[in-house]
Amino acid sequence: MSSQSIPLAVPNIGAKEAEYVARCFRDNWVSTVGPFVDRLEAEVAKISGVPYGVAVAAGTMGLHAALDALGVGRGDLVIIPAYTFIASANAVSQTGARPWLFDIAADSWTLDPDALERALAQDCTQDAEGVLRLKVTGERIAAVMPVYTLGPPADMDRIVPLARRYGLPVVADAAAAIGAKYKGKPIGALAEVSVYSFNGNKTITSGGGGMVVGPGADLLKLIKHTTTTARVGTDYDHDRIGFNYRMTNIEAALGCAQAERLSEFLAAKKRIRQTYNTAFANHPRVTLFPDVSWADSTYWFSGLVLREDSEPCMGDIVQALRDANIIARKFWKPMHLQAPYGEVPKCPMPVTDSLWRRVLTLPCSTSLSESDQARVIAAVMRALT
Ligand SMILES: *Cc1c(COP(=O)(O)O)cnc(C)c1O
Repeated sequence: MSSQSIPLAVPNIGAKEAEYVARCFRDNWVSTVGPFVDRLEAEVAKISGVPYGVAVAAGTMGLHAALDALGVGRGDLVIIPAYTFIASANAVSQTGARPWLFDIAADSWTLDPDALERALAQDCTQDAEGVLRLKVTGERIAAVMPVYTLGPPADMDRIVPLARRYGLPVVADAAAAIGAKYKGKPIGALAEVSVYSFNGNKTITSGGGGMVVGPGADLLKLIKHTTTTARVGTDYDHDRIGFNYRMTNIEAALGCAQAERLSEFLAAKKRIRQTYNTAFANHPRVTLFPDVSWADSTYWFSGLVLREDSEPCMGDIVQALRDANIIARKFWKPMHLQAPYGEVPKCPMPVTDSLWRRVLTLPCSTSLSESDQARVIAAVMRALT
């Protein structure tokens, strides 16, 4: 049997990428300023339907800078779903604040608006100055950070009004969501700030990097300022604590070439999801990855969910696929089960606790061929019998 290794999610690099990167060397624009940085900021803002984009060296840095610019710091809590990549929680910790962990909704794998509504009403209190605090610890609730887990935005028509009612800013961890639509529209104005990642396993990559987008000129200018060392003027004058979170022009060149191919990549991701869904739709041992009614997803990852009573277990399936030279992996381990976040405040987690051990991500690179996907499906079917 053919046995070329099939990776999980790898970059899809072509001639345009090589050409743009070569241009950086030719023109000597290799560091943290240059035409591709400006161009990528403009391009990603346009894709997001907002006027402003700030390029950063990683999505995690963008999340941290966004929270910092909103005044989040020591003694604060930021609401995040427990079911996320650890970068969401780490960005909160970098400000000095702590995450307050919430469950996800079963039908979207994103922040559960019912849990949010309940906890804000029952577990919080407004102090004499009108500051919202968690009753049991007295910490200030400083922001809500929904995560756009598989690409489609969370249920923002419910989450944003709740946040507004309590005066909380919304920072979207949109790491995997570039190109998504919410009710037919680009997603950049749903929250005060939204942050993409261009890490190598995301839909488009700049090697490493990310982008902060949003509708507000003042806030996005502040984020540009703090992520570029908060310099004032042309000399060594800095007006606050800043960060060196800049993307390089080489990375941005790669990102620009990838952004030009976004619709090609989104179409590939969608086709891959549909092919898996068709193959596994009637399998008694699995259910499918969710899709939501309110958004056009980016189908960042695809795979399957084992039913509770499923045998053989996840580890055996992963191993059987490895033996067939196919890389599949369990998805995220939730934050309340991670060493640094075992002690932070949390809401009940029935959906997260029941789900996370059963999620298997399957190869879904945009370069995955139909025959390779057929090989994956056949191997999964064998492993499930
Ligand atoms: C990838 C990812 C990030 C982090 O992005 P980096 O660019 O790797 O720092 C943050 N949150 C989520 C949900 C992610 O998937």
